[in-house]
Amino acid sequence: MDKTADGLRDPDAARYPGVSRWQPSVPVCRLAMYVVLFDIDSTLIRTQGAGRAAFAETFRADFNIERIGDGISYAGRSDRAIVREVFAQHGIEDRPDTWQRFRRGYLRRLERTLTMRRGGLLPGVLPLLRAIRERSDVAMGILTGNVAAGARLKLEHYGIDSFFGFGGYGDDHVDRGGIAAEAIGAAAAYLHTKHRLSAEPGLTTVIGDTPEDVRCARSIAAKAIAVATGESSLCELRAAAPDHALPDLTDRDTVLGLITSA
Ligand SMILES: [Mg+2]
Repeated sequence: MDKTADGLRDPDAARYPGVSRWQPSVPVCRLAMYVVLFDIDSTLIRTQGAGRAAFAETFRADFNIERIGDGISYAGRSDRAIVREVFAQHGIEDRPDTWQRFRRGYLRRLERTLTMRRGGLLPGVLPLLRAIRERSDVAMGILTGNVAAGARLKLEHYGIDSFFGFGGYGDDHVDRGGIAAEAIGAAAAYLHTKHRLSAEPGLTTVIGDTPEDVRCARSIAAKAIAVATGESSLCELRAAAPDHALPDLTDRDTVLGLITSA
């Protein structure tokens, strides 16, 4: 009998033998994909201070800054913003050449400090990245305050660089909202080139460990998942009003469900 999936007889079955008008012969076309943008430090990996050590050594050796002031905050900020603040504290002019001199020195030292510190992937990260990669409807990118080359060094060092196709980075932006805008622009370009699909804010999720990650998700109208694997407690993260706050990324299916819940 020619019946539909719900058991009803298809009235056109006799006129079009072998063809059911109730079941399309081609898959439904998607116009957009889910996008997930990961912060790096204290969200995917912990470097045990490799980045800060490379910062301090570069300031000391290349700019005669023996000690960075205690008031400097790193979490959730861009490399560009941190360097600008330290330069200002020590009367160093923030020009393209001084910034590039810092950047070169930092990257050279970061390669070494990464090998000297016993960092690693945070709990649940690798199974989650593998599960997302299996999904044909989710694209993964990076949204980080690291300069792009520094982000690449860190991701390569911990063996997860191949999971990410695009990103927004801290080379040019002082504000994390600017990085988020760069990341969503890069996602759109990637999806268009690779899949002829678009990226939509409503289908985009930002995952990070600071209130700044939540705020930058809002700036691009994306969902925010906060994880308490950095300096901020769950309570502090909840105060920033993310869509979801989790202790870590070990509950793979829940995280995947949240990413694809729109
Ligand atoms: Mg972070």
